Amino acid sequence: MTAFAHPLIRAKKKLKVIYYGDPICSTCWVKEPYIRKLAVEYSDHIDIEHRMGGLLESIEAFQRKTQSVFKPEELKNLWDSTSQAAEMNMDGDIWLEQPIESSYPPSLAYYAAQKQGITKALTFLRILREMLFLKKKDISQEYVIKHAVKIAGLDIKWFMRDFYSPKIRSKFQRDLQDKEKWDVREFPTLIFVNDIGEWEKVESAADYPTWEKALVKVSRQPIQKQVATYSTSYLLSQVDFLASKEIAVILNKSVKQVEQELEALYLKGEVIKETYSHSIFWRKKDSNFSIIRRVNSKSKAIIIGGGMAGLTTAINLKKIGFKAKVFERRPPDGRRGLGFLMLKNGIDALNLMGLGNKIKKIGNPINYFMAFDLQQNVIAERDLNDFLALRRGDCIEMLTSELEEEDIAYNKNFSHFEYNEKGEAVGVHFKDDTAEYGDLIIGADGVRSQVRRTLYPEYELEPVGYKEIVCMVDLPELQDNIRDTFFKLQDEDLAMGLVPFGHGKYVWFLQFKTSKHALNSNDTELKREFVLNAIKHFPPTFKQVADLSDFSQAYFWDIRRMKMLPKFHKNGIILIGDAAHPLISLTSQGANSAIEDSVLLSHFLSEYQSVEKMKKCFATFTDFRYKTIDGYTKEGDALLEQFLGEHSTDEYKAPFTHADTNYIQAKFV
Ligand SMILES: Cc1cc2nc3c(=O)[nH]c(=O)nc-3n(C[C@H](O)[C@H](O)[C@H](O)COP(=O)(O)OP(=O)(O)OC[C@H]3O[C@@H](n4cnc5c(N)ncnc54)[C@H](O)[C@@H]3O)c2cc1C
Repeated sequence: MTAFAHPLIRAKKKLKVIYYGDPICSTCWVKEPYIRKLAVEYSDHIDIEHRMGGLLESIEAFQRKTQSVFKPEELKNLWDSTSQAAEMNMDGDIWLEQPIESSYPPSLAYYAAQKQGITKALTFLRILREMLFLKKKDISQEYVIKHAVKIAGLDIKWFMRDFYSPKIRSKFQRDLQDKEKWDVREFPTLIFVNDIGEWEKVESAADYPTWEKALVKVSRQPIQKQVATYSTSYLLSQVDFLASKEIAVILNKSVKQVEQELEALYLKGEVIKETYSHSIFWRKKDSNFSIIRRVNSKSKAIIIGGGMAGLTTAINLKKIGFKAKVFERRPPDGRRGLGFLMLKNGIDALNLMGLGNKIKKIGNPINYFMAFDLQQNVIAERDLNDFLALRRGDCIEMLTSELEEEDIAYNKNFSHFEYNEKGEAVGVHFKDDTAEYGDLIIGADGVRSQVRRTLYPEYELEPVGYKEIVCMVDLPELQDNIRDTFFKLQDEDLAMGLVPFGHGKYVWFLQFKTSKHALNSNDTELKREFVLNAIKHFPPTFKQVADLSDFSQAYFWDIRRMKMLPKFHKNGIILIGDAAHPLISLTSQGANSAIEDSVLLSHFLSEYQSVEKMKKCFATFTDFRYKTIDGYTKEGDALLEQFLGEHSTDEYKAPFTHADTNYIQAKFV
């Protein structure tokens, strides 16, 4: 959202609109299109002052005041039905899963954000609402507010000072007292005030024409409105993210008409579309890469492996026009894994696929990284932007739900290829003696890829000098203290990390040098004994975390690396994700780079019209990705050196690579 959304704030106008709302108020969200319309059409005449009305101090206070029992299921049903009717999506499940405790923290946050400028504060308020209504986040939690602060580009230290300042609290209290004076009983309530203090109040049920009538009444002279005449494309270039309904209301069009126009822009690769249960949201594409339908729909792609790379590629290839099918070795409920960190480059790639908000919905925001030595001195600290902790199973489920049932075949273990006379693969054989034939064959079968071994048997995975035990643990009592910080404790031969995954769940990992510690078994008791013994000198929290873990669920990870392949393709087969370039866990790039691969490959493929030409893009893809992957690998080497080296005096490096780099948005020339 830019200043465009609220141009009225720019200058002092004759009329003022006092808008009493609340960040968690569903009717305020539903009226969002109309408040924007008011701002656009009467920008020459009015200033809008947003005030927070204190809808929910706490659930207990609400029950006391209304003498009623708080019923989450009623709220859920209300949100679901209202959003459907209003075409502004709201996910009511939050009331069943994690009811919002209070609307006071996000209200105070809005006043604190105002200190950094009214436009930024309004952007921030919108982000908070999107987090609640679209991403199902409890915006009463401070760590969620901090995440929104970072997305809005506010200065976090400045914000936190104001968030806790008594002045901000008094400002909120004053507005709450004023609310009583105006007798505001529901939200949103708009009070139109003229320069001699005459006023007209309209309550939440009032429609837009009623607002206009109130405005005309207090203006005491004819008032000319400026109906928006610009195009949908221009509107989206000015405002970051809008629902079809918002665009339709602002531009005086029907939702159907707007969606037809935007669908045409979407097919040209100019906008990104995010589909929700009850509405579609749009954003202008700010990347040179597109996933556009251009391929002859008869072309068939065979994808070996249904992990992050395979599933995202199937989604993208279907979008560009392929018939794409995934062949996965495991059954549908096969091991789902634990979790990983989603960095900015992975989130940007998912944004381009129109899945940015869906991934944020299932991910837990991580705002900080902190590393300590054994004496608990801080050895590194870092602010993180656009960082999520994601359960792998949730991610696989979300991606699978974007595909049709027939797009994935399970229990299909790759065996070998069938080649034509030119030596190019045309078919894939599986261990159950079945075969599939297609125009495009993609190897996305992970770190121990059989496809890669078939193409490049001379390239082998080598031990790196450390191994890792990873486990998920339920620690609801820890979540009051550790909700959004990735902690790492660094000892000489060991490092232990703790990452919050939301809802009281944490993933911990213990990395150990194989030159100093020996564990070669996946046996539950041996893993437990090994970990508890290795960390017996660690601070109590880390020991407690291990103590409470179920080691039968702990994953023993024998980290391996491999020399870079000369190219990511051979014999007409393209490799992506871990199959193409295994990256060590210290880079945190496994899932992120796999999704980037998928988006970039799909972009290059979509530029070619025929299958013959398409294969040429494998070389383009390799050229483009090679430098990036080489960069991740080298940064991984430096992190490895830091861990394995005896006593590094260098500044401690955080365990992720290129966390702030955005390759998807990079200009490709
Ligand atoms: C079960 C599992 C759990 C994981 N858990 C974690 C975790 O907790 N944390 C973490 O950081 N990383 C984890 N990873 C690795 C992480 O998902 C990848 O590094 C990253 O997502 C890269 O994605 P990818 O698609 O290239 O590989 P992967 O996500 O590994 O996907 C490869 C897919 O190919 C399938 N496959 C393999 N061989 C064949 C074959 N012969 N025929 C057909 N299909 C085949 C695999 O079953 C898998 O589904 C896990 C991987 C797997 C397979």
